Amino acid sequence: MVTHKTPAFPNRRATDQHTLIEMQLAVLAYQNIPAMLAVNVAATLGAALLLHSDGVSYIPVWLGLMFAVSGLRLLCWFLFRRSCANVNRGQASVGMWVLLYTLGLHAAALIWVALVFVTFQLATSEAKFTVIVIISALAGGATGITAPLKYAGRIYITILLLFTSVIIYWVASEHWVFSVLGLVFWVAMIISHRNNHRVLLKSLRLQLENKQLIDNLQTLNLGLEQRVQQRTEALKRIAHHDALTGLPNRLGLLDWMEKTLRADNPQEAAVLFLDLDRFKQINDALGHEVGDQVLRMIAFRFSEVCPQDAILARWGGDEFLLITAQSDDCRARAEALALQLIETATAPLSIRDESLGVGLSVGMAYFPTDAIHFQDVIHAADLTVAEVKRGGRGHSLIYNDIYAETQKRRFDLGRALSEAIKQNALTLAYQPIVNVVTGEVETLEVLSRWHHATLGVINPSEFIYLAEETDRIIALGDWVLHQSCIKAREWRVDGSGIKLAINVSIKQLLAQHFAERVSSILHDTGFPPAALILEVTESLFGEAHLDATLKTVKDLRALGVEVYIDDFGSGYSSLSRLHEFPVTGIKIDRSFTAQLDKQGVVIIESAMLIAQRMNLNVIVEGVESEEQLIKLYRLGITSMQGYYLGLPSELPATQRFDPDWRSRLQLSQN
Ligand code: C2E
Ligand code: MG
Ligand code: MG
Repeated sequence: MVTHKTPAFPNRRATDQHTLIEMQLAVLAYQNIPAMLAVNVAATLGAALLLHSDGVSYIPVWLGLMFAVSGLRLLCWFLFRRSCANVNRGQASVGMWVLLYTLGLHAAALIWVALVFVTFQLATSEAKFTVIVIISALAGGATGITAPLKYAGRIYITILLLFTSVIIYWVASEHWVFSVLGLVFWVAMIISHRNNHRVLLKSLRLQLENKQLIDNLQTLNLGLEQRVQQRTEALKRIAHHDALTGLPNRLGLLDWMEKTLRADNPQEAAVLFLDLDRFKQINDALGHEVGDQVLRMIAFRFSEVCPQDAILARWGGDEFLLITAQSDDCRARAEALALQLIETATAPLSIRDESLGVGLSVGMAYFPTDAIHFQDVIHAADLTVAEVKRGGRGHSLIYNDIYAETQKRRFDLGRALSEAIKQNALTLAYQPIVNVVTGEVETLEVLSRWHHATLGVINPSEFIYLAEETDRIIALGDWVLHQSCIKAREWRVDGSGIKLAINVSIKQLLAQHFAERVSSILHDTGFPPAALILEVTESLFGEAHLDATLKTVKDLRALGVEVYIDDFGSGYSSLSRLHEFPVTGIKIDRSFTAQLDKQGVVIIESAMLIAQRMNLNVIVEGVESEEQLIKLYRLGITSMQGYYLGLPSELPATQRFDPDWRSRLQLSQN
């Protein structure tokens, strides 16, 4: 059987499998024509020469006929090859090409049979044998070479062998042995042709199935690729957007900046850092669900104000960023935008039939003027909004280098503070709280002092605030408590009974096991709990941590420690809360003492009334003059603290006061 390369046709995509195989078979059959014709021409010439020398007169006619048929078959082959270049035409006319092939093949066979007829009547035995051998060889070769075409091949073999056998028996019955041999040979060749055809068909089908399988796999691959691409895009969308508000998140924002802003463009883009005010209170008091709703509503309001060419993103928590496109009038636009955003944020929000209010602080920085790196310009806007928060919230500020310096100082101070706490570098000052009637020092309030080797004296309002922000206040508070209890034992040896008042931050109070820590410090230092006062500001009453603070205050009271509300009246205080908490007393904020001739009196009177009703002790802070002292005394206050009575000092003032004002108090009493 002849082996072939994969024909050109089957590579083309065909929908009808049957037609496709037929086409492939036709192609294979035609591919064999040149070889077939070469053999045929050689055999024809050989036979013609032999018979011509035998004197058979019809030979030139026969030769002419054979060449004519061979020529036509060659022409068919040539035309078929050209036709195959067009798939559609090839598909449509495959039947016609098979017919032409078959006609040529069978015509050649009949011409050979005609030669047998002539030879067995007129030629020599040698010529007869030669013709028989040629016919047998052609029939044998046809089992392979005509295998692509089931019927055409078998009819060809039949004409060559069966017809020849019959003719020999008919015209030269003495050679019946040839006839019998021819018949046997015919049967064998037909079977061989059938087998070859089946093998060929099977291999073509397999080839086709493989191709279809590959096509299917490719289609599947293509589908998979598309799905992977779609998934990747969806993931990218998720990664670049905030799930709660649907706004771009940090990644999305930086991506936008990367694509939109150019550092080499002299035009500016404004970066507005938007930080909500009072959001934490809403979140803590009303729960995260309401908090989320507020964020969604605010995000929607901001997006309505956000210009088309700008981007609004959620930076995290209650922080948003709005970045404008680069333009000449960027600053004017940004300032107007900041006002608009503050206005839209402060408009009341209606959630679950409740009207809620948040505020907005805005920090603005300009790209590329303030920083050429995206993260840096955002950081600059962030520093600016922190400054807005420190300065009273609810407005906007434009970045100034001082903010970065402030931030740097805070950072340096923060680190230095940790070291100072560890290395015992802080010191303590004591300020007396005096009973103005008896002149006795009732309590000494402990105040931390920090003198840094290079940064100089750091004000408590700065480092205590910093310590609270960074949670270093816990370590600082422990140190103050421990240190002052040890020191206090020194000046309490005379049995003066002076108490110790220590300031405690709300963060300390909320830290795990605060009461236990106080108890263990008291135990370690041997300081009596009854002589310890802890001062906490009104932040104690914050809704978010009410249960925790109430429990800690109760635990502290159970130890025997007193608890005072410091700076009373300066923050948020609710009367009901004051009633619920087992506190010992209040320290009225010094701002009211400073306004004694204005409404300060009214407030102090009211506070006094509340304290009396609730059985609380009262201390007034910030007494700076005798005049204030006498006025306060007339309001019924006897415990006072202030520069007039004693400055905070590293040496505790434990001696009884005996100055003029005491006699004046007696006078005024009379
Ligand atoms: P505070 O607890 O209200 O302490 C009283 C503050 O008022 C002290 O300021 C004191 O020097 C000042 N002061 C006292 N009398 C007068 C007066 O007549 N006029 C004026 N204008 N001021 C007066 P200082 O030492 O700067 O402390 C500020 C705040 O820092 C304290 O306010 C307290 O809240 C906090 N603090 C200080 N030390 C500590 C500490 O060790 N732990 C904690 N948690 N906070 C502390
Ligand atoms: Mg205090
Ligand atoms: Mg105070």
